[in-house]
Parts: sequence; C-alpha cells; structure tokens
Amino acid sequence: MARSNDAPHERKPAMPGSSFGRSVEIEGMSKWFGDFQVLADINLTVKEGEKIVVCGPSGSGKSTMIRCINGLEPFQGGAVRVNGITLSQKSRVLDAVRRNVGMVFQQFNLFPHLTVLENCTLALRWVHKMPRKESEDLAKHYLARVRIPEQAGKYPRQLSGGQQQRVAIARSLCSRPKILLCDEPTSSLDPEMVKEVLETLADLANDGITIICVTHEMGFARRIADRIIFMDQGKIVEEAPPSVFFGNPSEARTKHFLEQIL
Ligand code: ADP
Ligand code: MG
Repeated sequence: MARSNDAPHERKPAMPGSSFGRSVEIEGMSKWFGDFQVLADINLTVKEGEKIVVCGPSGSGKSTMIRCINGLEPFQGGAVRVNGITLSQKSRVLDAVRRNVGMVFQQFNLFPHLTVLENCTLALRWVHKMPRKESEDLAKHYLARVRIPEQAGKYPRQLSGGQQQRVAIARSLCSRPKILLCDEPTSSLDPEMVKEVLETLADLANDGITIICVTHEMGFARRIADRIIFMDQGKIVEEAPPSVFFGNPSEARTKHFLEQIL
C-alpha cells in the first residue's frame, strides 16, 4: 500500500500491474471503421482526480476515443481499463464501467418531454432503483451544485442552451461518477453561454473527480488541465502540461494547430 503521507498523485501501484490510483488506462488501442483506421495505437494513463484536456483538428478521433472509454464504441486492438475493470462489450462489464463514468455531450441529449428534475432522476430511479424522494433530493443537490436549482420544474425547451448543458452536467453527476467524460461541451452554445458552462466544469474540477474533456477552449484548458493531449489523424501526437503545451510544444503539428486556434 502507499504510505499515508504520499500525495495522491505520487502513490505507487499496490502491486505491479494493478490499477491502484489509475482511473483510465489505455494500452495500444486501435480502431477501424471498415478499412479506415480512426485510432492508431493510443496509449494514455489517467490518474484518479487528474484533469485531461483533449484537443486536435476535426476528424482526428477525439470523440471516438472518448466514446471508446465508456464502451459506446467497440475497438479492435489494445486494451482499456476503467477503474481497474478491463473493457469488453459484455453487458455486465459495460454496466460496471458506466456506473463509474458520466458523459456530457455537445448536444445536451436531454429528454424534451421530461422536466429538468425528471431528466436528472430518470436513471437514478430506473437503473439505480432509488426511491423517488431520495432521487429527487439528490437531483436537487446537483442542480444547486450547477447553480440552477430554480429550474427543476421546467422543461428543457424553456431553458437557455447554457442552462440545458448545466442540467446535462447535473444529470451525469447524479450517478456520482468517478470519471466525467465531456465531448466539446460548449461547442453548440452561443458565445455568451460558453463561460457559464466552463465555470461549472472548472468548479467541479476542484471536487476530485477525474475529468477527460475534449474542448478547444484553451483558456479553460490552461486553467484546469493537468495535461493537454493533442491528437491528429488518430494518434496522440503530443501530451504535456499546459505551461509546456502552450509555451514550448515539441511537435510542428501542435504549433500549427495552436497558431490556427489561438
Ligand atoms: P473528432 O471528434 O476528432 O472530430 P471523430 O472521432 O468524430 O473525430 O471522427 C474521426 C474520424 O472517424 C472521422 O474521419 C470520421 O469521419 C470518422 N468516423 C466517426 N464515426 C464514424 C462512423 N460511425 N463510421 C465511419 N466513420 C466514422
Ligand atoms: Mg468530435
């Protein structure tokens, strides 16, 4: 076991090959859509509580990689462990992995015919079999956490885009995931609403949850990321803390990308 005075990020594995202290371990992951190789030998280890920002050009495989981590997409080569569970497409494994993983999408994916509160309690009641009162109390707690407690009785269409995305974040948090995966959570929002969603995520980043977030919001990346991953053509091309990533990237492709978006 790790000594009690070790900082969390310095903990050693309990035994060689164990996943102690590691949220996500991706080893040599490759994936094809037909003949097209979308992911090529992806290697990435994310420690518990780490905040990772993933960026890269459109079509570089960012969404596919994120979707593979919670089993929304199968992959053909390599291995992925999530909280120590080796991913496969078996429903028992997928259920176990997804219990630990929340996902926030670009399109908020709220149910339009359910209220904000019902959107948040749905999985708690039907997947986690939680009694109504308990599920509502938990949902209200997380709606307050994302600073929209007063919206609980409204329908998604009555909310702004930023508020809807905050509902989606609260809904993910209701299952108390250890890992939050975000795929461009602000890219379908009007500019004035981007900030409120990024503030919400930055606030959560202080809670110790592991976050892997695909985004091109580089101010946010600079602020919350422990590491920034740059992908191009299905590969991780560069991986560095923000100070190095922005100050002195080693790859020409990273420099070119940053010149385009900054
Ligand atoms: P990113 O999120 O970085 O923009 P994606 O992971 O969405 O990239 O896509 C990577 C590549 O895989 C793109 O070329 C895309 O067209 C292709 N792709 C994504 N999903 C599918 C699919 N379901 N079938 C075939 N090709 C796909
Ligand atoms: Mg994408």
